[in-house]
Amino acid sequence: MSEVRFDGRVAIVTGAGAGLGRSHALGLAARGAKVVVNDLGVSRDGTGSGSDAARSVVAEIRAAGGEAIANGANVANAEQVQAMVDAAIAEFGHVDILVNNAGILRDKTFAKMTLEDFRTVVEVHLMGSVNTTHALWQHMVARGYGRIVYTTSSSGMYGNFGQSNYGAAKSAMLGLMNVLSQEGAKYDIRVNMLAPTAATRMTEGLLNQDLLELLQPETITPGLLALVSEAAPTKMIMGGGAGCFAETRIYETEGVALHGADLTPEGVLAAMDKIRDPSNQQVMDNAFVQTRKYARMAAAAGGLP
Ligand code: NAD
Repeated sequence: MSEVRFDGRVAIVTGAGAGLGRSHALGLAARGAKVVVNDLGVSRDGTGSGSDAARSVVAEIRAAGGEAIANGANVANAEQVQAMVDAAIAEFGHVDILVNNAGILRDKTFAKMTLEDFRTVVEVHLMGSVNTTHALWQHMVARGYGRIVYTTSSSGMYGNFGQSNYGAAKSAMLGLMNVLSQEGAKYDIRVNMLAPTAATRMTEGLLNQDLLELLQPETITPGLLALVSEAAPTKMIMGGGAGCFAETRIYETEGVALHGADLTPEGVLAAMDKIRDPSNQQVMDNAFVQTRKYARMAAAAGGLP
């Protein structure tokens, strides 16, 4: 396998003042990328601002001989994001790589969740990722090259008590990736998701010390670098932590075609074991693959239900 390098590439990494984002920014810069280190410098719940986290990561990159600029845009603010993209292009000429990593937590059970806490988390994670991608999309289309990663979470894919806002925002990125990986394909824009599990301030107090030592952000960054490399896949959900990597996939079971008297709620309940039977499950390449599959199954079972 040839060495993965990013010479001549420009990357924007959001939330790169700490944790995973910092590790990704350092990893990209170490392999030749020029990096826009974005961070609003907020606390874990998104309050406060103005820490010089982004500037200190830029200083680290420069000290190691790399090139980087700091940026304090709030990813939830589309105008500030546009200004960040404009500044990146003014400084480095173009942008090739976008790593959406900025994030906050406002955990509460849904019974206690205010709509404001729900919306704020969606604004940062989902709309923050939409804002950055929207500001860059035409630029990447025009250049015929782009690598985009959304940072999702097992909380969105599998569920985690007390994180309805975060889980919803993180899994909404899946729909964004699925569509953009198709729309971007002919422009060599590849869109993937990273689902990390890492020792950062986000997981502080949640994991025991042994686990925290295993889960250093640097053990995940190689996966991120692969997902934004020239050889990147597209439409992949890569899980990563402690140097382990895996793919999360969404399958549809083979299912059943119901007719006549069986096409009732009782018939669906009676067929539930078959509907949920994972043998012969398959990945759907796009939405219409599912529609065509049902048309085929219904026809094979005797035509119109
Ligand atoms: P972190 O708190 O160390 O880093 C997040 C960074 O994002 C902070 O530096 C913060 O200032 C910045 N940020 C927050 N809101 C911002 C905004 N509106 N605009 C710009 N910057 C903003 O946490 P982390 O664990 O490194 O998290 C990085 C990403 O990974 C997040 O999206 C998080 O949801 C995701 N994630 C982390 C874990 C984990 O185990 N740590 C698991 C799943 C997903």
